This record gives sequence, structure tokens and C-alpha cells, in this order.
Amino acid sequence: MVPAAEAEALILSLITPLDGSDALEAVALGAAAGRILAQPVTGALDMPHWDNSAMDGYAVRYADVAQASADHPVALTLTETIPAGKPPTQPVAPGQAARILTGSMMPTGADTVVMQENTQLQDNRVLILDAPQPGQFVRHRGSFYQAGQPLMAVGTRLGGPELAVLAAAQCVNVPVFRRLRVAILSTGDELVNPETPLQAGQIVDSNQYALAALVQAAGAEAIPLGIVPDQPKALAAAIQSALAQADVILSSGGVSVGDFDYVDRILADLGATLRIRSVAVRPGKPLTVATFPSVNAQHSPILYFGLPGNPASALVSFWRFVEPALRKLSGLREGWSPQFVEAVTQHPLKGGGPREIYLWGRLSPNSANPSRYDFALAGGSHSSGNLVNLAGANALVVIPVGTELLPAGEVVRVMIVR
Ligand code: AMP
Ligand code: MG
Repeated sequence: MVPAAEAEALILSLITPLDGSDALEAVALGAAAGRILAQPVTGALDMPHWDNSAMDGYAVRYADVAQASADHPVALTLTETIPAGKPPTQPVAPGQAARILTGSMMPTGADTVVMQENTQLQDNRVLILDAPQPGQFVRHRGSFYQAGQPLMAVGTRLGGPELAVLAAAQCVNVPVFRRLRVAILSTGDELVNPETPLQAGQIVDSNQYALAALVQAAGAEAIPLGIVPDQPKALAAAIQSALAQADVILSSGGVSVGDFDYVDRILADLGATLRIRSVAVRPGKPLTVATFPSVNAQHSPILYFGLPGNPASALVSFWRFVEPALRKLSGLREGWSPQFVEAVTQHPLKGGGPREIYLWGRLSPNSANPSRYDFALAGGSHSSGNLVNLAGANALVVIPVGTELLPAGEVVRVMIVR
């Protein structure tokens, strides 16, 4: 049994992130949300692109207004109004000011903007009632970003702010890594689709749906391969079909020590290298991690995760081990590991045994002290076969090996899962 942290490190060490031209595609800016940047972006435009005003007010020459005050206002003659989106038509000479709006280009001659609140309009003159700072309220060309400098690094996940930056840089075709392809198969003679009325002893294949949703939420493409019976030939054929189309293969079930648990044997027969066979985690002890040599030698091997069949075990294994692997493989530069935070447990938590224990529940900010998190254990059974109370869970509390009991009110380590 490999301890969880060690297993995670081992899995990550097997992975070379997507790279190279065959891992790259260009997508339109509007379709790039959630994707990962595959080439560094260098902008061709300074930001801002013009000296412009940060305020509604008057563009002035600082030297003209340095001594202005409410008692001794300075009167300046107005030249024009410069609306946003139109260039100024004349310079500001000594003794003059231009009416300017937020974002409007600064006229030549002017070096400072006086905000409207410190002025008073008098016919075609403006009275300046307060001395500004020199250069105040001018956003200078290139002061946020200079053309030619690195703008965004490879491996950045593109969310709202990143897309805004790319839009401002007029990067309309965004180079991103292709989506990972993740094949999902459910093994077990007892499994049926949700549409099928249950015969005695049958179980609905729920893992297929859980795993597909989690794979998609991780930004990858899910390839559902359905239910595979516990027959070596069928299993070998399904895995071979998955190998032909996926970067990562997830199966659930068949990795324990039962009479019909064939996955490990078939993997070995098909030429895989078995890296992990069980982890010191509860739920989720049976976990097979194997690699197949990649078709193209410079790339990551094809990763096979044989997840346990029990629904809670399959999910915990996915969150703890598969998700970090998908993040690293996808080309994401950082943040592969799960996020752990400290929280105060609202319920006593029972530990014990040789495995790290993961129990599901909800993490939320404490209402009285928002700098503190609370963890509330999901009610109902924490059996690995129960999935009902997993709905709504957003975190897993971790009970370390060697801990018998964590009383309510204790600070605990919690893994965020959504
Ligand atoms: P196994 O690891 O194959 O022994 O499966 C362990 C338990 O998980 C058994 O009770 C299975 O019926 C159940 N199980 C296996 N696969 C699935 C699945 N895809 N969806 C829901 N339950 C499953
Ligand atoms: Mg089974």
C-alpha cells in the first residue's frame, strides 16, 4: 500500500505535460474559456495605446495651474471637448484647457488632468479651484504594458481576466493545448445502464456518469466506453479500443482481489507497466496505476487508472489521484496537486487503521469569523458503497494515519474537491 502523498508524487513523475506542435490548436477568443495557453503571447500594442485621461475633467498644462486654489482660481480658455474615441484636433497652448472625458486621448501640450469636481465652468473658460499633482490622472501610453514584452505565459488557464487581456492585445486566434481525451469504462457483470429496470442483484452503473462529469469539469474530453462484462476477452478488447483513442484511461471496478477482478492481469498481458496496485487510502485502497508506452516516444505514456468500483472509492480516487494527473498532463503550468485548507470540524471524526481516511462533507466560511472555515461531515453512511450523501459534497476531510479521534472543534485538514 503506497501512502497517498507518495502515490501522487509517483503518478506526477510519470507524466510529461502536453507539448509540441501536435498538442496545439488555435481557437477563437470567444471559444477559449477554460483552455490552456500553449504558446507564449507577446502583444503588439502598448497598453494603454494612447496617453489618455483617467477622469472626466480638463486637460491642462501643469505649469499653468500649479498655484491654483479656491481663493485664487486659475482661469483657462477652453479649446474643445475631446470625447472618448475621437482624437483631439488642436494642441493645448499656455493659458488653455480642453474638456476631456475618461479614456479620451490627451491633446498635445497638456500633461495633467484636473478632475471636474475641482473646477467651475464660466462661459468658454474653466476655473481651476485646486492645484493638481503634476501629471495627475493621465494614463501614459505603455504604462500598463509595453509592446514586445511577454504578456502571458504557456500553461496559463484562460479565465475571464486572461481573456480580457488577450482581447485587449487583439489576440483573436488563441494557441491552446488540445483537450485531453479520457476514455471511461465500467467493469462488472452486475452493471446495467440507468434506463434498464433492475433484475435481482444488478446495480446501476453510476460511476460512468460521475467520472465523465469530473473529466469534463477538468477541461478534458470524456470518451464513454460503456459497461464491460467481467470476461478477460471483453476487457482486453475494451482496453485496446481505449488505447487507440485516449491519453488517459479510467476504468472502475475489477481491481480488487475478487474472483472476477481481471484488470491487473489484462493490463500486464497487454504490455502495460504496473506502477501502483494499492494505496493507503480509505475509501479507495484498490487502485491500479499503469502505463502503456506512448505511440510517439517523446510524449507521456498512456496512463491507466483502474479505480475501485465502489462509488465513493472511485470518486475519492479520482479527486486524490486522477485530477492532479489530468492537470499536469493538460499543460497547466502549476497547481496540479489538490488544494488543502485548514478548517474546524463541526462533528467528531473517527479515525484508526493503517490508511489515511477521507470523509466527505461541506466546507464553508464560518458565519461569525469569515477568516475561518468550518467542515460539516455529510450526514448518513460513510460506507464506500454509499453514494447518496456524496451529492452536495465540496470537500473531503483527511484523518491522518495514527489518529483515533478528532473531536468536534478541532482544526482539521480538508481537501477541496469543487
Ligand atoms: P469491484 O471493485 O468490481 O469489486 O466493485 C466493488 C463494488 O462497486 C461492487 O459492489 C460493485 O457492484 C460496485 N460497482 C462497480 N462498478 C460500479 C459502477 N460503475 N457504478 C456503481 N457501482 C459499481
Ligand atoms: Mg466488479
